[in-house]
Amino acid sequence: MASMTFDGIGKTFPDGTVAVANVSFAIADGEFVVLVGPSGCGKSTLLRMAAGLETLNTGRLLMDDADVTNTEPQDRDIAMVFQNYALYPHMTVYENMAFGLQQRRMPKDRIDRLVRDAAEMLDLTRYLARKPGQLSGGQRQRVAMGRAIVRHPMAFLMDEPLSNLDAKLRVQMRSELKLLNQRLGVTTLYVTHDQVEAMTMGDRVAVLKPVQDAGESNLQQIDTPQMLYDRPANLFVAGFIGSPAMNFVRVDLVEEGGGLTAKVVGTDIAFKAPQGEALSAYAGRQVIAGIRPEMFSVCRPEEAVFHQEIPVAEALGADTFVFFDIPSPAVDVNDAEEREDFSRKGMNRMVARIPPAATPRLNARLPL
Ligand code: ATP
Repeated sequence: MASMTFDGIGKTFPDGTVAVANVSFAIADGEFVVLVGPSGCGKSTLLRMAAGLETLNTGRLLMDDADVTNTEPQDRDIAMVFQNYALYPHMTVYENMAFGLQQRRMPKDRIDRLVRDAAEMLDLTRYLARKPGQLSGGQRQRVAMGRAIVRHPMAFLMDEPLSNLDAKLRVQMRSELKLLNQRLGVTTLYVTHDQVEAMTMGDRVAVLKPVQDAGESNLQQIDTPQMLYDRPANLFVAGFIGSPAMNFVRVDLVEEGGGLTAKVVGTDIAFKAPQGEALSAYAGRQVIAGIRPEMFSVCRPEEAVFHQEIPVAEALGADTFVFFDIPSPAVDVNDAEEREDFSRKGMNRMVARIPPAATPRLNARLPL
């Protein structure tokens, strides 16, 4: 196993596209780090650079203390698992798993032991004689994992390995992969665009954002899933982590009655701001407040902060998502300058997540 350090990594393609800029972070020995972010944020490029499949324009890549920036892929002692599994269709499961070891001219009996051990661990023993075409998607995914495991690499690199599976299998494989990682203790860098996958699998999660020029950085925050949720570093992370996404409203923070009141810009909605020194510094100013959908609750009209008509409600069985519009400018989290977005005619669409216990009260009030 090894630690892995990305030190000021940058990649601009020959056509001038800045894919990655100023990315620095370290993965501890045995840690599972997930790279997550929207399409084009440089996840795959970073992973490919770690694998040695893509050159760097700036920065260094270290494994433990060794500089591997210019080391050939085959000399990096890293195993990669791809989205499409990249299995050889004409080979059996056994041959697929043994292939890389045979290339290294490892003795046959050693190969046999490694392949059978990995197959046992992945519950693939009874499929060893089958070809990939005779396997389910989940089994194929496990063969791809097996092929990586038999090499006993210093690190795993995984590029959306679950994205070709159906939703149910993906959830199942998610926990299997995580358990496997805990058992093997291999340093892992895992790419996904799915924030739920990132949050459930990563010891830490790195949130990336697309960049326009080499002066910015893709890396917005790297932290434990709980810290990303509770203490997002900026609007982008706050808006990206969490489903449904966090609501943003512009508020004027006003000192009132010994505390702070947040008055939603453009409306007569006001609520008590949380106590805290950090917020007091913003008294008298306009700020963006983030409200998680689960922070709302249904209450008696005289206690309500938001008195809303509910045009759309989605019952998901357990929870109900309730959507409503307030007459306040929407906040565009992707815009660095926080430009106001009046695309919905100055309306800001909010979403509330109402838990099962409160749903009957909600239903009673809905014009169904
Ligand atoms: P996705 O989730 O869609 O796979 P990603 O986060 O993995 O996206 P990358 O594939 O790393 O993103 O791409 C980052 C940026 O670099 C994108 O703007 C992409 O268009 C660009 N890019 C990738 N490969 C090349 C290339 N060979 N030449 C020019 N630009 C490229």
